[in-house]
Amino acid sequence: MGDIKGFLKHTRIAKKKQSPEERKNHFREFSIAWNKGQYVEQASRCMDCGIPFCHDGCPLGNKIPDFNDSVQSGDWKGAWEVLKSTNNFPEFTGRICPAPCEASCVLGLNNQAVNIEHIEKEISETAFAEGWEKPIIPKEETGFKVAVIGSGPAGLAVADESRMKGHSVTVFERDEKPGGLLRYGIPDFKLDKSVVKRRIDLMKSAGIEFKTGIEIGRDISANELELMFDAIVLCTGSTIPRDLKIEGRALQGVHFAMDYLKHQNQLIAGEMQEINSTYDMRGKQVLVIGGGDTGADCVGTANRQGAVQVTQIELLDKPPTARTLNNPWPEWPMVLSTSTSHEEGVDRNWALLTKRFIGEAGMLTGVETVKIKWIDKASFQYEEIQGSEEILPCDAVFLSIGFSKPETNGIVKQFDLTLDPSSNIKASGFKTSKPNVFAAGDCRKGQSLVVWAIAEGRKAAVAVNQYYEAMVAKV
Ligand code: FAD
Repeated sequence: MGDIKGFLKHTRIAKKKQSPEERKNHFREFSIAWNKGQYVEQASRCMDCGIPFCHDGCPLGNKIPDFNDSVQSGDWKGAWEVLKSTNNFPEFTGRICPAPCEASCVLGLNNQAVNIEHIEKEISETAFAEGWEKPIIPKEETGFKVAVIGSGPAGLAVADESRMKGHSVTVFERDEKPGGLLRYGIPDFKLDKSVVKRRIDLMKSAGIEFKTGIEIGRDISANELELMFDAIVLCTGSTIPRDLKIEGRALQGVHFAMDYLKHQNQLIAGEMQEINSTYDMRGKQVLVIGGGDTGADCVGTANRQGAVQVTQIELLDKPPTARTLNNPWPEWPMVLSTSTSHEEGVDRNWALLTKRFIGEAGMLTGVETVKIKWIDKASFQYEEIQGSEEILPCDAVFLSIGFSKPETNGIVKQFDLTLDPSSNIKASGFKTSKPNVFAAGDCRKGQSLVVWAIAEGRKAAVAVNQYYEAMVAKV
C-alpha cells in the first residue's frame, strides 16, 4: 500500500452535488467531481487490511485495494487496467451501484468505509477522457455466431466478453435503442444516456451488431434463431411487475412505475414528441407505493415534473438508522437509506397497508391505508391496527413493488425451457435445458442490480465459450 496510515489521516468526504433546489430544475446528472487530489486522498484511506472483504462484497470481485493503491500513487492508467480486468462497464457501476463493496469495507467496522464507488467513476471517466478506453478488436475471428437477446447490462456484458473471444455477436433488442433498464428504467439524473450511448458506440466499433426494434419470439422465432446462430443467450430481464389487485385498481391514475419512468426517459431522448398528460405530474399530488429504489426514482421524476406533493409509502417498518446487533458488518446493512431523490422532497411513511384505491367518475382521488403491526416478517405475518385507517388524497399512484418474473410466453415457451421454482429461467452454470441456449441476468436470477447483471453476463460468456471449445474439440 502506498500510504499505510492513510485511513488514520483522512476522513471520508461526502460526494459533491448540486443542491436539491438546483437539480430539481433539470433531468441531468448532478454530482460534481472532486479535484484529483481529493480522489488520491480518499483512495489512500484503503487500508492494508489483509483480507479485503470488499472483493467478496462486489459481485464482480473487483480488486478494490489494487486500484485504490494505483490511484493513491497517481497511476490512473494502472488503476483503470485493474478495474477493467473484472468490470466491463465501470462507468455504469461507478454511477448507480448501491456499492455492496462499501458495505463490506473493513474500515466500516469502526469507521466510515472507503469512497470506492466515486473513485471507480473517476477512474472510468479518466480512461474515456485520456482515450485509454478503446474498442477491443479480437486478433482472430472464430466464425462462431452468438445471438444475445436483450441489451441490458447482462446482455451487453455477454456480448462484450464473447466478442473479445473472437465470436461474431449480434444483440437483439425489442426497444428502439439498446441499453435495457440502463436506458429506459434508470432516470437520466442518475445515469445520463450519453454514457450508455458512448459504451454502445464502442461495442459497435469492436464489431458487435445491434438489431433493435426486433422482438425475438415474435419477429424471429426460436427455430429461425437456431438456424442463424450457434449459441443463443437470453438476457431478457425480469419484466412482469408485481400488481396490487385491490378495489379501484382500474381507476385512471394508477400506474406501474416502469411505465412512468420509461415514458420520461423516452421523452428526454426525443423518442416522444410531447408528454402524455397521464404521466405529467405538474401540479398533481403523487403517491408512490413501495419504498425501494424504483420508488425513489418515481419521487425524483415527479418532483422534477413539478408535482405539488409527493408521498412514498412502504409496507415494512421504518429501518433503524444504524446496524443492529443481528445485522453485523460485513452483511448488507438493513438501515434507513435516504437517496438523492428523497433529499429533494418527499413525505415517507412506513408500515402502511394499501386497502383500496378511491375515485370519482373513473378517476383516482385517493388511497385508503391502514397502519400495520408486524408479527413475523419471515412468514410475512402482520395485523392491521384498528382505527388507524386513513385516506391519502392523490391524483396519481405509482406501483413500485418490484418485479415477479421474466416473460415466459414468447421465446422461452418456443424453446420449451425449464423454469425454476420462482418462474425464472432455470440455467445452472448459465446453461438452460437446451444445450445451445444460455441465460443470464434478471431473467435467470430474478430482479437484482446492474452489478449482478454484469457479473452474470461475464460468467455466461465463459459458459458460451466452453460450449464453443467443446464443439471445436469434437470436429
Ligand atoms: P434488463 O436491463 O431488464 O434488460 C433486458 C432487455 O431485454 C430489455 O431491454 C428488454 O427490452 C429486452 N427484451 C426482453 N425480451 C426480449 C425479446 N423477446 N426480444 C428482444 N429483446 C427483449 N440497479 C442498480 O444497480 N442500480 C440502480 O440504480 C438501479 N435502478 C433501477 C431503476 C429501475 C426503475 C429499475 C426497474 C431497476 C433498477 N435497477 C438498478 C436494477 C437493474 O436495472 C437491473 O437489475 C438490470 O438492468 C438487469 O439487467 P438485465 O440485463 O438482466 O435486464
